[in-house]
Amino acid sequence: KTFSELGIHKSYIKGLKELNIVKPTEIQEMVIPILLESKTDLIGLAQTGTGKTAAFGLPVLHAIDKNSDDVQALIIAPTRELVQQIQKQLFRFTKYIDGKIFSEGVYGGEKIDKQIKALTRTTHIVVATPGRLLDLVERGAVDISKVKILVLDEADEMLSMGFKEDLNKILKYNTKKRNTWLFSATMPEEIKNIVKNYMSPDAVKV
Ligand code: AMP
Repeated sequence: KTFSELGIHKSYIKGLKELNIVKPTEIQEMVIPILLESKTDLIGLAQTGTGKTAAFGLPVLHAIDKNSDDVQALIIAPTRELVQQIQKQLFRFTKYIDGKIFSEGVYGGEKIDKQIKALTRTTHIVVATPGRLLDLVERGAVDISKVKILVLDEADEMLSMGFKEDLNKILKYNTKKRNTWLFSATMPEEIKNIVKNYMSPDAVKV
């Protein structure tokens, strides 16, 4: 199948092609139609290098209302490198689309003032490490009350890095109104607890 056949809007196809993303990977083929068509929670067992960033990133982009300046999606990842990588991919995917979707990457180890200032501009998607995101939310620099989609990328990594408390606090915000898409390479007990406590029992598993 092609990305168009999976439901990806034609304005994305040229940008994807420039990245040599032409034929969907297995996880993209499974996940994209589900995430585009229905408002659902999703649990994805996936390793890195499988194309999972596009598998969740393209449906996130399709869900954004460009005419609103609310933060509508949150993507949480364990490291600065991964946050930067995801944010860069989102930016590249949207190179030729009509209008603009703004995403901002925020992570620990960099001056928070700079990030607070960046977040005063329109931001549709925040890509973040857990600790820094929580700090920014608690300071009132990010309003996550309008978030429709929360993605947890490499959830097992985040837990093994000690982000459990931070994640729990973030997940407690506006649980009812949003969909949560969790990706993890492994499913230890702590991940199952997140699924049980914060996700729909009807979550799709892939
Ligand atoms: P990820 O697993 O999301 O970290 O992606 C790993 C690499 O595969 C990235 O460099 C992507 O740009 C690339 N990639 C993602 N999807 C595809 C695809 N359908 N065809 C070729 N390369 C892809």
